[in-house]
Amino acid sequence: MEYSGPTDLFIDGEWRSSADGATITTEDPATEAPYATVQKAGAADVDDAVAAAAAAVERGSEWRELDLGARRTALHEMADAIEEMKDEIALVESHDNGKTPFEAGLEIDMVIDTFRHYAGAVDKVRGDQIPVSGGRLDYTRREPVGVTAHIAPWNYPFQLAGRGVAPALATGNSVVLKPSSTTPLSALYYAKAAEEAGLPDGVVNVVPGSGSEAGSALAGHEGVDHVTFTGSTGVGKTIQRDAADAVADVTLELGGKGPAVVFPDADLEAAARGVQYGIFMNAGQMCWANSRLVVHEDVHDELVDRLVDIAESIPLGGGIDDDGQMGPVVSESHQQDVLEYIETGREEGATVAAGGGVPDDPETGHFVEPTVLTDVDNDMTVAREEIFGPVLSVIEVSDEDEALAVANDSPFGLTACVWTSDLSRAHRLADALEYGMVMVNETPNTWPQVPFGGTKDSGHGAAQGEEALRAYTEVKNVHINFD
Ligand code: NAP
Ligand code: MG
Repeated sequence: MEYSGPTDLFIDGEWRSSADGATITTEDPATEAPYATVQKAGAADVDDAVAAAAAAVERGSEWRELDLGARRTALHEMADAIEEMKDEIALVESHDNGKTPFEAGLEIDMVIDTFRHYAGAVDKVRGDQIPVSGGRLDYTRREPVGVTAHIAPWNYPFQLAGRGVAPALATGNSVVLKPSSTTPLSALYYAKAAEEAGLPDGVVNVVPGSGSEAGSALAGHEGVDHVTFTGSTGVGKTIQRDAADAVADVTLELGGKGPAVVFPDADLEAAARGVQYGIFMNAGQMCWANSRLVVHEDVHDELVDRLVDIAESIPLGGGIDDDGQMGPVVSESHQQDVLEYIETGREEGATVAAGGGVPDDPETGHFVEPTVLTDVDNDMTVAREEIFGPVLSVIEVSDEDEALAVANDSPFGLTACVWTSDLSRAHRLADALEYGMVMVNETPNTWPQVPFGGTKDSGHGAAQGEEALRAYTEVKNVHINFD
């Protein structure tokens, strides 16, 4: 189906072409055919978008100081608009990124929930009253930071943009959103939703463009007060440096190499299903993927057998025309990177127990077979680096201490999953795992109201939950001497 969605930049409430006339043509990773051509923002367009966002902040009464009930209604109306466009956005996301329609639908649902959650939060951003000596009243207020920049990745293009945009809007800020040039389409629907909801001009601006030009111009822009970046650790470091010039605060949601730790007392069927989702959902292109299976020797063979069976039976197919359960990866170059990691794994001594290559069927599309690597040592490249594809590295351990040591021995610290029926062990590990998120007897899973973020090279600051409301506000202390 041909793309019939928005193709222009959205700046200051207007749909417009890029200043230099540049465009981006996207490819459908399942068909390898061009899918859509949209305007490509450059530094001049980013300047305009930031200026529009700043002007909206200046015209405070329209949004920043808007009656809270009216702001809540506006966010609900954005959620309504997204809900009405849900099927269309899911289809576009599926063609743009390669994920299955089912996976795309989950993404859109999560965004609708997120907007509704933060609509309800507009009047719940509280300050404190702090005891001080003498006849004084001291209290804090949380005020919007102003202009917020959102730089989003290609793996969950709609959801990972929305989880920043919604709380930024709820707290009265303006937004400039730059999606990945690999998947620029769904972000434009935020502009449509803002238009539908009647948000004032300049409050939401969407500027698809490349990372090196539009992204870099936005991250280092002196008019930006907060940068939310979701993407790779390498680019995250650059963003933090760029933002330093404007003394802008940053939220960094970066890579991961998450362990799923499975003990003999676990429900193995549930663990296998959980790990299946944790590594093969979205073709493994998940920051919080269960990319390392850290499994006790007593259940190693049984669990590996189950996972090999699962890996070999997942129907492949992207786009909307079949009932595939795992789509292609996002591009040919990414497919090559993933295959290279598998090759490196082989060279370093891992055994390919399932998959390991490109499937015969489907013939077109950037598919990688669901892959299980066994005999992996935690020092191997496939255990250290983020592969960002459907590749599970299995590491065998012999007791809880070793499991914990292996799980924590990683440059990353985003998500760890633990499978056990021993309650004490669950709590011990929840305490000892050096991860921003720990899940017990659960596949990676989240909700808008809970914080999402990592430690170490996985970044800092948290998306979602009350934490996001804090990120998009500045604390002001007031004290009144009434003596
Ligand atoms: P990426 O290459 O780092 O790109 C992320 C975003 O930054 C894209 O919009 C990209 O634009 C832009 N960008 C690239 N270089 C830039 C620069 N110098 N200045 C400003 N912006 C720049 O990451 P990706 O390949 O899209 O996404 C995969 C990574 O994201 C993985 O590492 C994954 O773990 C991580 N991730 C983390 C989370 C989390 O919540 N922790 C969630 C999802 C993904 P272009 O694409 O147009 O170059
Ligand atoms: Mg990239």
